[in-house]
Amino acid sequence: MDLDLTDAQRALRDQAREVSLRELSPQAAEIDSQQRFPRQAVERLAKLGMLGVAVPKEWGGAGLDAVAAALMIEELASGCASTAAVVSVQGLVCESILRFGTEAQKRAWLPPLTSGAKLGCFALTEAGGSGPGCVDTLARRDGEGVLLRGSKSFVTCAPVAEVALVFALTAPGAKDSLSAFLVSTASAGVSCGPAHGKLGLRGAVSSAMTFDDVHLPSAALLGTEGGGRAVLRFALDGARVGAAALSVGIACAAFAAATRYALGRRTNGELIANHQAIQFKLADMSTQVDAARLLTWRAAAARDRGASVSAFASMAKLVASEAASHVAGNAVQVLGGNGCLADYPVERHFRDAKVTEIYEGTSDVQRLGIASALLKE
Ligand SMILES: Cc1cc2nc3c(=O)[nH]c(=O)nc-3n(C[C@H](O)[C@H](O)[C@H](O)COP(=O)(O)OP(=O)(O)OC[C@H]3O[C@@H](n4cnc5c(N)ncnc54)[C@H](O)[C@@H]3O)c2cc1C
Repeated sequence: MDLDLTDAQRALRDQAREVSLRELSPQAAEIDSQQRFPRQAVERLAKLGMLGVAVPKEWGGAGLDAVAAALMIEELASGCASTAAVVSVQGLVCESILRFGTEAQKRAWLPPLTSGAKLGCFALTEAGGSGPGCVDTLARRDGEGVLLRGSKSFVTCAPVAEVALVFALTAPGAKDSLSAFLVSTASAGVSCGPAHGKLGLRGAVSSAMTFDDVHLPSAALLGTEGGGRAVLRFALDGARVGAAALSVGIACAAFAAATRYALGRRTNGELIANHQAIQFKLADMSTQVDAARLLTWRAAAARDRGASVSAFASMAKLVASEAASHVAGNAVQVLGGNGCLADYPVERHFRDAKVTEIYEGTSDVQRLGIASALLKE
């Protein structure tokens, strides 16, 4: 793996760092406490070309790659993890359309998604769980198209999205029945539940979605009928690299806050940074951030090479999300009582980090995927 960044990757990272520090970070606490969708921030990032970074320029993207996207998501997440989560979902919808879409689908959806004129969401999870085998939503043939019927839960950006990437069964009981559809949320029969009140990533508003006999034209099918598993695999691999990068960003922010605090706080006349117990915590935190970042870069670089990436993406997501939780937990510890107050950012980092261990597949689901890849070798 080449660890040297290109000029374009470095430039995007620096620009993301700047906007994160100056514009996202000052609003992050309010977005979190009000559980408010960061619309202005998303519009601003769209103007900077940060939606659909890995989409070619001809479709309105930045024409960069997965490594660039990971660098950018890390920087954005260190300022506001909710905003970074929205950008990450938008990227995964764009990349799925780019990879599996027809020319007409690319023309219809990519320019408005990369410009931020429209927002996307990814709807897999249902009441029965969050895997291909848990899908009960049906897409029954209806003339040239299908009628979509079922419900999804926990869909990030559902309340604000114009298009949903929805997974449904076209031939229940058959081996290859899962199919993917691009569903305009303005279609008759699509509705969203109230926004969830969440532990973390609270600005990346989410809700249930219901599809009540929604008529979809044949042009709504993404990829082939029964080819939904391939779309899902590709989308989840990308989503997991994004979640890993987001976790690294949260961990970095928590580490920086803890270090700053340790260098300013005195108890009994002594700086707490002079205590070995605090130093060891900071050393472990910094090491975990770097380890998580390296695994994230490896997974992103493999995706750019077109290599099989599922195990690398799961390893990165597993290590980075658990590192984020551990680092943010230690940051709360370093701040003591102040770490428990909403006046300090580490309390938010702690809550945001916990969510990263759950969304895009829990840690144990990542372990299952890693083990199955290992045992196949
Ligand atoms: C903030 C947030 C945003 C989300 N955004 C989206 C989104 O945009 N789109 C979407 O489709 N979904 C989304 N999700 C759903 C998310 O992907 C699922 O919640 C997650 O994958 C876990 O699935 P579950 O909630 O059904 O838990 P369950 O599957 O019920 O898991 C419960 C527990 O059992 C364990 N478990 C389950 N199966 C196994 C197994 N086979 N072996 C060992 N342990 C197992 C899990 O690890 C977990 O600890 C989001 C969730 C959250 C919290």
